[in-house]
Amino acid sequence: MNTGMVERVAAIRERVAQACARAGRDPEAVALVAVSKKQPPDAIAEAAAAGLTVFGESRVQEAAQKIPQCPGRLEWHLIGHLQTNKVAGAVALFSTIHSVDSWRLLDAVERAAAAAGVRVRALIEVNVSGERSKFGLPPEEVPGVLERGAGLARVEVVGLMTVPPFEPDPERVRPFFAALREGRDRWARESGLALPELSMGMTGDFEVAIEEGATCVRIGTGIFGAREAIP
Ligand SMILES: *Cc1c(COP(=O)(O)O)cnc(C)c1O
Repeated sequence: MNTGMVERVAAIRERVAQACARAGRDPEAVALVAVSKKQPPDAIAEAAAAGLTVFGESRVQEAAQKIPQCPGRLEWHLIGHLQTNKVAGAVALFSTIHSVDSWRLLDAVERAAAAAGVRVRALIEVNVSGERSKFGLPPEEVPGVLERGAGLARVEVVGLMTVPPFEPDPERVRPFFAALREGRDRWARESGLALPELSMGMTGDFEVAIEEGATCVRIGTGIFGAREAIP
């Protein structure tokens, strides 16, 4: 067992607990997704041995290669951009897709899930900053996708996800997290979907995200250290 891993996981959990305490929230209400993209199966096994159970991958192809080499009891989430031609692979590997950014993609996931006989949880990725380099639906297009998404049989739309612009000072991304929560509150009322999940916050800004209502933080380097290239 790599003690560095155990200590890093404990430190992240402690910071999650402190952010929850500041916000008057229950730490049980914040799920930790260990972002294992570009990490080898050995490192993932170490993180699992340190008690982590939910892992996030960015690419279907990388996940398809690695997951069979990882401990079997883990839960896998897709957090990276998904192309419609990869949905069959995605629904076979992932219980939850955080990065649905169009009705076309949501509908393709529904059909792939039906074909595979599985159910999938989906979050709608929202581009709250309007930054052009970012994936995600413009906020004004979210209600239409939610309205159609409410009628799906295989995909449960459980919430929203965002990746804010990179800022060295996490306080500068607080408005984007607050905007996602406020959007969620409004769109949940309008759509009739509960939308309990807010996937927001990474290593550099997860505490601010928790203070603004994150139910799921996606942490890579804070758990694994710097990402290695896969040989
Ligand atoms: C890589 C990635 C993360 C994790 O980033 P860290 O800064 O390493 O914690 C979280 N979310 C998404 C969408 C990512 O691509």
